[in-house]
Amino acid sequence: MFERFTEKARRIIFFARYEASQDGSPYILGIHLLMGVAREAPQLLHRAGIPGAQVRQIHDTIVPGKLPRISVSVEVPLSSESKKALELAITAAEQCGSRTIGPEHLLYGVFRADKKLRSELERAGLTEEKLKAVLKEVPEEGGEPQMGFGEQEAVTCRSGIGYDLHRLAEGRKLIVGGVELPFEKGPVSHSDGDVLAHAICDALLGAASLGDIGTHFPDTDPKWKGVSSLLFLEQVRKLLEERSLRIAHIDAIVITERPRLGPHFLAMREALARSLGIQPEQINLKAKTNEGADAIGRGEAIAAQAIATLEG
Ligand code: MG
Repeated sequence: MFERFTEKARRIIFFARYEASQDGSPYILGIHLLMGVAREAPQLLHRAGIPGAQVRQIHDTIVPGKLPRISVSVEVPLSSESKKALELAITAAEQCGSRTIGPEHLLYGVFRADKKLRSELERAGLTEEKLKAVLKEVPEEGGEPQMGFGEQEAVTCRSGIGYDLHRLAEGRKLIVGGVELPFEKGPVSHSDGDVLAHAICDALLGAASLGDIGTHFPDTDPKWKGVSSLLFLEQVRKLLEERSLRIAHIDAIVITERPRLGPHFLAMREALARSLGIQPEQINLKAKTNEGADAIGRGEAIAAQAIATLEG
């Protein structure tokens, strides 16, 4: 069935399945497909006047309470509405002579097939006429503009760099990448002092030209005292979604003499990815020591560096 789906359309369905598993939903719902569209083709929704942050709000309306997460290795099936959405997407593509099914066809199919989602989208200002008009703006490669020929969205890549360091002191919790590690020392900090989360925050904010972590989460604000730094990442995710920016990849290095970090990387990538609404595979982590030199080498500090790449 999926052989005629474009790479982006397949990624939308793949991501929808991931979102369904995160919600603990037994089926991939229309909202999960819409979240996939928001992630893979944000400009499409942006043109329809539906920013990514609004998709998240619609999700929270339709899926108010989360059930326990389902393992991503479990194959979550499509709901009957989602199956219908895919059928309508195929029909829409055929009707306009497209051999392939792209994000715009999926968006149209979801809008037509899922009544509950449709009413939420209509409440947000989207109408079928508006959607058709937006789809007509997507031109066929080398042809006349008409409904339904995607993959031509101009995507801009932008990168940001982040760095953080915290002094280490006895009797404090050591949290790195959202994971508490058994160790006798921890960072001296206003928040939980998660150097990795802080460096990633700054890299993301940098890529989005949104300043730095201190601007958004000042350490003079009691609101952020002792909070999990994953909260910062969730806030940054919202800022990116509002601007239809998608995280393509994050690469980071944590520098510390001890403890050993490698065994905890998978848990860190999962925690960070969950907060950012991406896949753990989109985050790469590396560990370094400073070979006994300087404050890090003496075990007096821990540092992290990160690079983030955004698309949008
Ligand atoms: Mg910090």
